[in-house]
Amino acid sequence: MLHRVAASQPKGIALLDGALGTELTSRGFDLKNELWSAVVLGTEEGDRAVQDVHEAYYRAGALICTTASYQAGDLAAFVRVLGLTEEESRRRVARSVQLCRRARDTVRPREGLVAASCGSYGASLPGGQEFHGNFGMSEAELEAFHMPRLAIVLAEGPDLIAFETLPEKTEAVAVCNAMRRHFPSMPYWVSFSAKSETEVSSGETFAECVAAVLASAVHPPEAIGINCTQPRYVSSLLRIGREAISQSPHPGTLLLCYPNAGAVWDGESQNWTGNGSSPEQWCQYTEEWVMCGAKILGGCCNTTPAHISLLKKVWL
Ligand SMILES: [Zn+2]
Repeated sequence: MLHRVAASQPKGIALLDGALGTELTSRGFDLKNELWSAVVLGTEEGDRAVQDVHEAYYRAGALICTTASYQAGDLAAFVRVLGLTEEESRRRVARSVQLCRRARDTVRPREGLVAASCGSYGASLPGGQEFHGNFGMSEAELEAFHMPRLAIVLAEGPDLIAFETLPEKTEAVAVCNAMRRHFPSMPYWVSFSAKSETEVSSGETFAECVAAVLASAVHPPEAIGINCTQPRYVSSLLRIGREAISQSPHPGTLLLCYPNAGAVWDGESQNWTGNGSSPEQWCQYTEEWVMCGAKILGGCCNTTPAHISLLKKVWL
């Protein structure tokens, strides 16, 4: 499905959205809690803001927007943070898909796509652990963690699933197992966070992660790549990804990247530190990313609709 979508675009590049949390924060919402952007779901003001941000991205040029369910992997967090019942918690996660779909139906009803975001297990732990990995959990345990949210978002009919900011090989293989066993006809992508030009956040090489994800003959992801990573590492990682894909049993797998704007996440203070790139600088990188094989492009933390508008000028 993503092949067809990318091929339908004027230059063969499909655009994603940028950061959701960044936009909600700049609208005055406090996301410093276990649920992050999902904390605003289900309130009138919050729902309106989430839908507004999705609409802004579709309007800026995004073909695919990702839902506010990134950090809603642990349903018990809704109980801890907001005192909700389990039933209401499930409704809030479902809401994330409904809001993105509503934005799509408003702005790009014919061709827009909704990707249900499933962040790493580490996003449900304190201190930004999705940027470290090495959870010491088995594939089966990580698959069990991902199942409840997956079942809720899939019941709402998204177009695909975005497994994002995965820091390690074991978790990536676990989510592929979940999709193969339980949702064998649902398209999905697998995206890692990385800490260098060669390594994902856990310290494992990106090459071995790609090889492991694409090793299974049955229902592999349609795209694989890098997100929430500093732009300066991305070209090298894409070259490694392209090589690993070409040597895998699924050489047609697409490459995607949606790096952050270049700042660094401090899990302790829950703040971004350092200066990110300007939208113009950031957009200049994308020429190289496309030369390195990326077919799906967007932004992660601290990127905005202004970044996506610039991508639209270059790539649409
Ligand atoms: Zn991010």
